[in-house]
Amino acid sequence: PELIFLDNASTTQKPQAVIDTLRDYYENYNSNIHRGIYRIAEEATAAYESTRNKTASFIHAEDSRSIVFTRGTTESINLVAYSWGGKNLKAGDEILITEMEHHSNIIPWQLLCERSGAALKYIPITKDGKLDLSEPDKYFTDKTKLVCVIHQSNVFGTVNPVEEIVCLAHNCDAKVLVDGAQIAPHHAVDVTRLDCDFFAFSGHKMLGPTGVGALYAKPELLEEMDPFLGGGEMIRTVSMESSTWNDIPWKFEAGTPNIAQVIGLGAAIDYLSELGMENVSAIEKELHDYARVKLAEISGLKIYGDREDKGAVISFNVGNVHSHDLAHILDTFGIAIRAGHHCAQPIMQKLGVPATNRASFYLYNTKEEIDRLTEGIMKAVEMFEG
Ligand code: PLP
Repeated sequence: PELIFLDNASTTQKPQAVIDTLRDYYENYNSNIHRGIYRIAEEATAAYESTRNKTASFIHAEDSRSIVFTRGTTESINLVAYSWGGKNLKAGDEILITEMEHHSNIIPWQLLCERSGAALKYIPITKDGKLDLSEPDKYFTDKTKLVCVIHQSNVFGTVNPVEEIVCLAHNCDAKVLVDGAQIAPHHAVDVTRLDCDFFAFSGHKMLGPTGVGALYAKPELLEEMDPFLGGGEMIRTVSMESSTWNDIPWKFEAGTPNIAQVIGLGAAIDYLSELGMENVSAIEKELHDYARVKLAEISGLKIYGDREDKGAVISFNVGNVHSHDLAHILDTFGIAIRAGHHCAQPIMQKLGVPATNRASFYLYNTKEEIDRLTEGIMKAVEMFEG
């Protein structure tokens, strides 16, 4: 209870409602889905599928068949790289990403380029943590087949102009994948209005269990894509020679899925929906505004990509104190922040630092906790620099 948890961009704590939902499944109707014809199997299937409907409404997808459950953002992106990329990309094509991406939205494309012969291009970032879209024609060309962009940066908190990027991409007939890992937990998302082709996010960053997330994809794309993993449940017929595939989205959910976690994600979505995403954003904005003012009181503290209109994520360094040392000392005061490269080494290279500290806030954090963080940093700096 004393812990001040400020590593919410990494994962979030879980409300009792989510924990109770997991427990209820395991205690009262644990069974496999989509196959049993007894009562608890039907109950589990209904709970699992109802999360699909909730997930579709949560991100304003018109058709629940566009929601594929995965282990999280990383798996969702890899699914697109294999199933869509494997079929649609060849030598001479280009994949366009940005220098602001999380490794999850870099490595699958590097691997796809190796397999397909396509080339990977990067939209640059400025040192103040924004995308440099001043020369779009340099990047969006008739060779561009896929554009992959992080919606909210896990390092800076910058919210990127995804609508503009979708327009630029569609104007050159490219598809767009949005990495929504950091936006879905914090702001209302409307994939229909965004008109993106793919949108990936993780349950554990939005109060849900680990091991579950989703891929949204336009249904016509899912229809034409090949399966990602083969096995039970993703088939319609199997013979010794060949097989046919289940309807979407089940074509992409091979084997026994993470049933409890999907049902738990449904409880997290209910929790956030009851609060209202506009209220979640408002709470975080207040915390972010307050933290910027408080941290500015610390001499020698530099915030990377500091600005008012962004997500509640603050990356910083103080004087010559190494981020690991600072995070370690704060831990002894009961304050958990992240230190390191945040799975975004290209950003660190751009900033010319090996690592930063990162405090990231969520709806349960308080201004008192930010006061304690500020005092903790001051004490730690005093210990290191005298
Ligand atoms: N993309 C972004 C922006 C992230 O912040 C993260 C996790 O930190 C991921 C992708 C990967 O998410 P996961 O590890 O849940 O697959």
